[in-house]
Amino acid sequence: MPRSNKSKKRSEEELQRFAAAMEAIDDGIFIVDRASMRLIHVNDAACRFRNQVREELIAIEPWVLAGMSRAELEETYDALITGHSDATPLETQRFGKDEAAVWVEIRRHAQLLQDGWTIVIMVRDISARKLAEAALHASEVRFRNVFEKAYTGLAIADLSGTLLEANECLAHLLGYTRQELVGMNIGHFTHPDDLAAERAFLEEIQAGKRDVYRMEKRYLSRQGDLLWVDLLVTAVPDEHGKPFETIGLILDITDRKRAETELRIAATAFDSDTAMLVTDADGHILKINKAMAESSGYSADEVVGRTPKLFQSGRHGEDFYRDMWETIRRTGRWQGEVWDRRKCGEVYPKWLTISAVVGTDGGVTNYIGSHYDISEQKKAEEKIEALAFFDQLTGLPNRTLLLDRLKQAMTSSGRSGRYSALLFVDLDNFKTLNDTLGHVIGDAFLTLVAQRLKSCVREVDTVARLGGDDFVIILSSLSASEAEAAVSTEAIAENILASLNLPYQLNEAIHHGTASIGATLFKGTRISSEDLMKQADLTMYKAKAAGRNTCHFFDPAMEIAVRERAALEKDFRTALDDQQFLLHYQAQVTSGQRMIGAEVLVRWQHPQRGMISPADFIPLAEETGLILPLGHWVLEAACKQLAKWAGQGEFDALTIAVNVSVRQFRQVDFVAEVLSVLKSTGANPSRLKLELTESLLVDNVENIIEKMFALKAKGIGFSLDDFGTGYSSLSYLKRLPLDQLKIDQSFVRDVLIDPNDAAIARTIVALADSLGLGVIAEGVETAAQRDFLEAAGCHAYQGYFFGRPLALDDFELLASRVPMPIQ
Ligand code: C2E
Ligand code: MG
Ligand code: MG
Repeated sequence: MPRSNKSKKRSEEELQRFAAAMEAIDDGIFIVDRASMRLIHVNDAACRFRNQVREELIAIEPWVLAGMSRAELEETYDALITGHSDATPLETQRFGKDEAAVWVEIRRHAQLLQDGWTIVIMVRDISARKLAEAALHASEVRFRNVFEKAYTGLAIADLSGTLLEANECLAHLLGYTRQELVGMNIGHFTHPDDLAAERAFLEEIQAGKRDVYRMEKRYLSRQGDLLWVDLLVTAVPDEHGKPFETIGLILDITDRKRAETELRIAATAFDSDTAMLVTDADGHILKINKAMAESSGYSADEVVGRTPKLFQSGRHGEDFYRDMWETIRRTGRWQGEVWDRRKCGEVYPKWLTISAVVGTDGGVTNYIGSHYDISEQKKAEEKIEALAFFDQLTGLPNRTLLLDRLKQAMTSSGRSGRYSALLFVDLDNFKTLNDTLGHVIGDAFLTLVAQRLKSCVREVDTVARLGGDDFVIILSSLSASEAEAAVSTEAIAENILASLNLPYQLNEAIHHGTASIGATLFKGTRISSEDLMKQADLTMYKAKAAGRNTCHFFDPAMEIAVRERAALEKDFRTALDDQQFLLHYQAQVTSGQRMIGAEVLVRWQHPQRGMISPADFIPLAEETGLILPLGHWVLEAACKQLAKWAGQGEFDALTIAVNVSVRQFRQVDFVAEVLSVLKSTGANPSRLKLELTESLLVDNVENIIEKMFALKAKGIGFSLDDFGTGYSSLSYLKRLPLDQLKIDQSFVRDVLIDPNDAAIARTIVALADSLGLGVIAEGVETAAQRDFLEAAGCHAYQGYFFGRPLALDDFELLASRVPMPIQ
């Protein structure tokens, strides 16, 4: 078949040419004859692909190479031939001979040659491209993950601020879904106050003036919450380098901002005008503010690390600080007035607040102390008080304070049972002095008067000025006895008058002044303070009317009593020298009418007034101290008598009881005095009995006991006078070297009518018995009293029933008659 041969030859030639051209191509080329379904040509590149030599490769059936069945491949080829298959390249992973996976792109096309259809298969190695593609994809996934999963808000927006993408974190922050955010403009959720600033930034990006901006701005979430964010926006350029969109990084800094605000507030508050300091839990100072530095005088450097003890003034005791910390421990807080010391040494009052700062674990982490200085306030208060309660000229209490003090004195005198006195002092002729010498001199005079008045009274007393030349004095807690209180008042008033009588040096001139005083006594609140003031005022006018420079009492009887007393005192001073005192002897007897001795009772034979009872002058003697020489005289006289009686049959055994006053016994040298009297008179100490009263036992009892023992050791006896009227402590009684209790006459008097007195009398007898002491009843006036006492167990008596106090001669007469007659 020449034609066929010729055409075959031509076809081969054609193929050869085609093949030669193909050798130059990098792609692998396989040519399959459709009819025979055999490879008729492969190029070098194809061999390289397959890593096979041409002969080997060409022998492989194409469907084996294609990895399918022959029928499938034929179908594929036919589709190509008939144009029913698109020419889209096929990307696939093919295996080479050595099974290496290679990504290839396969293109097939049908070519009609003279001998029929051939299928040209071009295989291109696309591994490199595939690798690059895979890497790109992986990177894309990674970045998307970063974008989507980041805990930071991320958004992509166009240059007008409309979001193109937003991540979950931002969506969550703003309260929208991601889908909702896309397409939304930043103006939708940006705080109106921050929008203009951000738009300005975006414009600058658009204009190429910047490619990044950062701002702290506020968002408003969908729920309307205010959020603070730290926003970092970067421009993304297009391929020409022109910005076309932005990436925003959004950090939620709301908490930080809130903390910052709080810190700022705290810092501002800390730097306020209130002085403040902060310590750690152990009380070491960490920080002080400016006001604290100014107030204390210490700089921060000087106090940090130290404790607030540094500021203590020493005015408060340990108890104060202990209570303070106890309160802080209990309540977490303490407030109060504290006196501290500044660096310069000045002590000042401050109002201090200490608060404990508690950490999250409930423990105290710090203490904050804040204070304000109240020294000015204190000064103002004092000034106001001074204005309200004190007289500006003299500094003395004014009427308001006087009335207040008077009411207090009234109440406390009612409680204590002691009389107090109210005195109105008016300066005689002050008006004349003021008119002639002028007010300045007048004021100077009043000031001097105020000073003199104050120096005449005790600390507890009040000297006030009502105005003008009216001064008022309260003498408080004088005496339980009205008469004694009157006497004390009179004495003080006399002293005041004397003091005011002294010359005054006034501006070169010497001035003389006198005053008139009106006094009234009070105890309790029976009369009102106003009435008391009226009484004293009225009395003062009486004193003035009576000739000035005197003191008058509101109660005329008291006036007389006081005058008499003053006169008595005057006389008393001379009575001793003039030997106006004498002793009376009162018998002390036993049940069998036997006389055992006498009590000596002093009498004052006044040249004008006649015989004066000791009840009238002993208190006066005690007050003036004249009791000492008087007591000495009595003791000496009694001892002389004892010495005289010694050896005289009927009197030899008699004892003499001598009353000893408290003041006398308390004399340091009392023991020595008694012993020396005994010695000088030669009296037998065992015949001497000292009568003491319970009031001796109120204080310094050890010393009293010591003295008693010293005297007792010499044989002197002791009787406790007026027993039952005082407050003897039984424990003391046991320790005293007593010989006898003397039942007071007040119990004896009513022993038959008052069951209480009877009971007391009996009790005293029993008590004396149990203490191993003798007992004597005084003031026995009747046989019935004597009988009662005898039945009760008392066997010694003294009283008018047996004999009145008698002058010595009469007494000796009585004593010599045995048995003693009953009076
Ligand atoms: P006193 O020591 O309790 O003396 C007893 C007082 O009772 C005496 O009063 C006496 O006269 C009185 N009296 C005696 N028997 C009776 C009686 O049956 N009925 C009544 N109604 N009274 C009777 P007098 O002498 O006025 O002495 C009063 C107080 O003066 C004494 O109380 C004594 O405390 C004190 N006193 C007297 N002489 C002295 C003395 O020399 N020195 C001291 N320090 N005080 C003396
Ligand atoms: Mg007596
Ligand atoms: Mg008595």
